[in-house]
Amino acid sequence: MFKYLEYCASDKMGDIIKEDLDRHFAYLKECYQYAKEYSHDKSTWNSAKLIRNDGIPIAIEANRVMEGIEPTEEILTKRPDKYFYTGHAEERVLWKALDMGFTDFKNSTMFCPWYACHTCARTILGFGVGRIIGHQSPMDWDGEIARKGDGRMEWLPSIEAAWNMFRKRGVDFRYLIGKIGGVENLHAGRIFYP
Ligand SMILES: [Zn+2]
Repeated sequence: MFKYLEYCASDKMGDIIKEDLDRHFAYLKECYQYAKEYSHDKSTWNSAKLIRNDGIPIAIEANRVMEGIEPTEEILTKRPDKYFYTGHAEERVLWKALDMGFTDFKNSTMFCPWYACHTCARTILGFGVGRIIGHQSPMDWDGEIARKGDGRMEWLPSIEAAWNMFRKRGVDFRYLIGKIGGVENLHAGRIFYP
């Protein structure tokens, strides 16, 4: 099991109060529910929700093939094609928010159970998002899943690069530990109960 928190926990963890924590878990639960319903991906469901820091919800998105492009079985299942065609939840929610006219990314928090690849990290930094909150469970699952040599993307080095960029830019990023309950999630082809 990967002990992500040993090297990525924010030292600002203490500033989250109990009410915040309950709310944050509720957002993560909503992300899991949304991902299950709307993700196109046949292997991993993920979604991201953007909240302005005064509590106003801005947008939510899942990992999906871009609008206007038919998510054919071939696109969705063939590697590496699915990586080329599937937009990640983190980038999609940012573009969606911008499209809606939202610009206050600095004072917003992105909730996303499993984040972030290096490409999404660059997008997150480009938009200037101030804080990202994920869930420890999928980080652990990813570490536990044996590589099958089936062309599956090796995400961990990509995620480490993302953390490096977040640290250098002073982004407050963290992963909440604890059970969500009442939801299921597909990760690397396996169903988990976060
Ligand atoms: Zn990504």
